[in-house]
Amino acid sequence: MKVVLLGFGGWLSDPSYGTTSLLLVDEDGGTVILIDPGEGVLRDLHLCGYGDLRRIRAVLVTHRHGDHILGLPTLVQWAKVLQHRFTVVGPQDALGSLRSILEATGVSNYDQYLELLPVDEGAQLTLGGLRVSFLRTPHTVPSLAIRVESRGRDCLVYSSDTAYSEDLVNFSRGCKLLLHEVTFLDADPILLRRLGHSTASDAVRVAEEAGCGTLIPVHLGTYSREDLARYLNPAEGLQVVMPERCLELKL
Ligand SMILES: [Zn+2]
Repeated sequence: MKVVLLGFGGWLSDPSYGTTSLLLVDEDGGTVILIDPGEGVLRDLHLCGYGDLRRIRAVLVTHRHGDHILGLPTLVQWAKVLQHRFTVVGPQDALGSLRSILEATGVSNYDQYLELLPVDEGAQLTLGGLRVSFLRTPHTVPSLAIRVESRGRDCLVYSSDTAYSEDLVNFSRGCKLLLHEVTFLDADPILLRRLGHSTASDAVRVAEEAGCGTLIPVHLGTYSREDLARYLNPAEGLQVVMPERCLELKL
């Protein structure tokens, strides 16, 4: 499986980061899954060389916050032009919000191009050769972390938005790659709990406790990549890969 990082910012961060969005390409190149289509995702797909929407089989939405779903109306409009149908997978409330957004923005007949598939913690899906499972994380709205396994090979976990979570450590155990949010460089743990977000050291801690070999910090907040690098202090054995637009990793 190949992972492509389309963007790595949060809702409010340096606009050049884009919003955190991933593309997963199966071994045979046949199954493409898009995760968290934030604003400008169609442009980002083109920028990274994956502009052919007909390749996308499923879009996974982790929760209903705008930086995770606001790119969908544009994807659906384009899918209508291409006569392409895809599945959108996510928590029930996020799919309800998505319908409201499609209606509010005048995207007609969207049901012809979308299959909406609600999932929650414990659900398992097989999409081509990829097995996808979900975990509820502590955030301000229902939000799911996603684990993707590829035919007995290495797996990855994407935390989406979350405060530090022991359940997420267990969910990530045995996976080579963890993409974990870092909304804050450092903050009071009580505040983080209330806001449902993590710091740089939370992300490192989850990766280390789960035994993941590689951490990519994503969902950066209102700080620079240089400042982030100063706050990431992994122990030996954990490799931190700094996020970049269109970064590709093979698992
Ligand atoms: Zn959020």
